[in-house]
Amino acid sequence: MALSPEQQEVIEKAREDEVRFINLQFTDIHGTVKSVGLPAHRLPEVLEKGSWFDGSSIQGFARIQESDMVLQPDPATYQVLPWKAPERRTARLICDVMQPNGDPFPGDPRYILRRAVERAAELGFSYNCGPELEFFLLQKRNDELRPVPHDVAGYFDFSPRDLAAAVRDDIVVALSAMGIEVEMEHHEVAQGQHEIDFRYADALTAADNAITFKQAVKAIAAQHDLYASFMPKPFYGHNGSGMHTHQSLFRDETNAFFNADDPYKLSDVAYGFIAGQLHHARALSAVVAPTVNSYKRLVPGYEAPVYICWARINRAALIRIPQYSPGREQSTRAELRFPDTSCNPYLAFAVMLSAGLDGIEKQMTPPEPVEEDVYHFDRSRLQEYNIATLPGSLAEAIEELEADQVLLDALGEHTARLFVEAKKAEWDDYRMQVTEWEIDRYLETL
Ligand code: GLU
Ligand code: MG
Repeated sequence: MALSPEQQEVIEKAREDEVRFINLQFTDIHGTVKSVGLPAHRLPEVLEKGSWFDGSSIQGFARIQESDMVLQPDPATYQVLPWKAPERRTARLICDVMQPNGDPFPGDPRYILRRAVERAAELGFSYNCGPELEFFLLQKRNDELRPVPHDVAGYFDFSPRDLAAAVRDDIVVALSAMGIEVEMEHHEVAQGQHEIDFRYADALTAADNAITFKQAVKAIAAQHDLYASFMPKPFYGHNGSGMHTHQSLFRDETNAFFNADDPYKLSDVAYGFIAGQLHHARALSAVVAPTVNSYKRLVPGYEAPVYICWARINRAALIRIPQYSPGREQSTRAELRFPDTSCNPYLAFAVMLSAGLDGIEKQMTPPEPVEEDVYHFDRSRLQEYNIATLPGSLAEAIEELEADQVLLDALGEHTARLFVEAKKAEWDDYRMQVTEWEIDRYLETL
């Protein structure tokens, strides 16, 4: 099999960049980056034939009868890792995971997203995502990994003592060297908390970028003797870290969410999409907020959503429609606010898209938007407005996922089963812990 022009180009670039090592990357079902290192001279061979590996010990990959799999590098993802020293210059390639017979492996999160994107394409849509990742920069104290914020600054603060301004600058430089265009970076509300937003892209590229982003942030933080955490809620009583995702559907070059004649400037496609995501919200949460800790973030009072409603201004809503300004039709979008940074972005975008498409296909209509402060609604008010709540725990979320055929189909039988099993095990392990809170509360008093 001859190399394609894109593959040839990768070989050329690697030569020009004087790359010495190649990292072949993919993720497991939890979004953990897995990586295989190779000396650069093997690049032409792995581009042509892929690289064999034993998938049986990767979470979500295990299949007793078929543990051999092939990593097929996607030439479009070639990037030099800018934080590596020149003598160890390394380029990474994100890979698709294939079975020995050449079929895509159904447990590959990237494939699951590709499949959802193809379904959208059959309906004439392309799906764009702009994720906003929040994270904490923390200090190591006595080499122990405890959550100690590195600063005392707050939202949008700038101060010369804000060490993180330099770290954020370095992160922005690294991301742009890797082809990720940053649009904004700022201190977030909590101490030690930051946000860096990059330009939206088609869902697959955006998910690749989110993975690259996390890697870059962790690598650059370490160079400054800090560590970066994407844990959704590291500190009780303070804001957690979200991965709000701005989404739109395009038909050819036109934003299919825009309708000039609607008071919200939203089309029927947008309303169907929003209604679909609201309808599937409780099951979606298992994938977009997939850890025990995620549900410590989704509580009233910290700018993270709890109630299943949509709005224009209200940041407590699950879906927010950013204000339309004339001439900006193309940026009409729906911001989904409950995903967090512990999710696997490939799986998250796949189920988000599938939920939205289901709403469009079934011509669902969303309820009226809710602009009031829902955090302070009591039960009767919630009932009057017919507002449901997100699951209160991972266990509840998993139960919802198990009952949602649309999302199970989006994940595919193999991944749905392994995902649910892994998350149940995670919950069981947590459920049996005796926490510091319980000791403080009960040990002496009971
Ligand atoms: N950190 C908040 C969250 O958990 C969001 C803050 C914001 O609106 O950017 O979602
Ligand atoms: Mg933010």
